[in-house]
Amino acid sequence: MIETGLVRKPTEKHPTAFQATQLTPTTFLIKEYDDIYSEHPFIYVKIVAQANLVVVIDTGCGGASSNSNIHDIGLREFIEMVDIDVNDGKPLNREGKMNYTVVITHCHYDHILGVEQFSDSTILASSRDFPFLLPSALPDSSLCKGMGIHTPSYISTLVPHLYSIPECAVLILHTPGHTPDEVAIYDSAEKMLYVGDSVYEDEDIIISNQGSITEWLASITVLISLVNAENQKQDSGVIREVLINAGHCTAGKPALEVLKAGKAFMLDVINRKEPIRKRAVIWGEENVYYRQERGRFSLRCPARLVLGTA
Ligand SMILES: [Zn+2]
Repeated sequence: MIETGLVRKPTEKHPTAFQATQLTPTTFLIKEYDDIYSEHPFIYVKIVAQANLVVVIDTGCGGASSNSNIHDIGLREFIEMVDIDVNDGKPLNREGKMNYTVVITHCHYDHILGVEQFSDSTILASSRDFPFLLPSALPDSSLCKGMGIHTPSYISTLVPHLYSIPECAVLILHTPGHTPDEVAIYDSAEKMLYVGDSVYEDEDIIISNQGSITEWLASITVLISLVNAENQKQDSGVIREVLINAGHCTAGKPALEVLKAGKAFMLDVINRKEPIRKRAVIWGEENVYYRQERGRFSLRCPARLVLGTA
């Protein structure tokens, strides 16, 4: 629990860097809309009341803003102290009465800078590429070293593909591509799919220098199969579509359409149907940029992955 006596409450004049909206009866999207890195990450909170548990998917950039009007508080303080209109005017986890399980979709800095606030909680991450997440590798893997910022120190439990969080029907899937440790999370009770940075609209999808387009395509294909199967299932006689929720930009949209359209764009890139729009050296390696004519999907990836110039 956060010590409440020491923290001023945010006001209308001094809001926090976070905004919460409700996605389902038990699920909230917290947008860190005004962070100092302009990453604007999406954080998701699922309340599992019967298990006295809050599942937090990613932890954002830490709550700091360069706007002096912003009331500088961390994600956990926001969850425990700030009254949320769409939650009957109460904090999402008032005074920290419920426990946390935090799932890190991947270790890039804009997803882990708030994780130290949850050091007393279970933190889950992918077991797929153990060396990528070693404390000695994390400054590079997270990009914190390149950004010149403190690398968070945290202990995570590395979980296998198709791991199920014991207290709820929430599944973790290994979906490498953006990074080797990328995961997706599927909440079958709510038919909500969380894909981290694997795919979103309106901003560049990134295959990082440690990532792989081949693995990305395989991961997206697995997610399409999962969503196809889940979309056939009825709940109380009603068929509901799975919705997709990404680490940036895209939330609450039909998952199947977004995944298929994103995959089709990536295939167009590989098949050289999309022109290169720009080249730039990113973290010491030549990257190329692509963008659909209407701008829905765009991509940045190492040139060697698409041009075979390794
Ligand atoms: Zn990322």
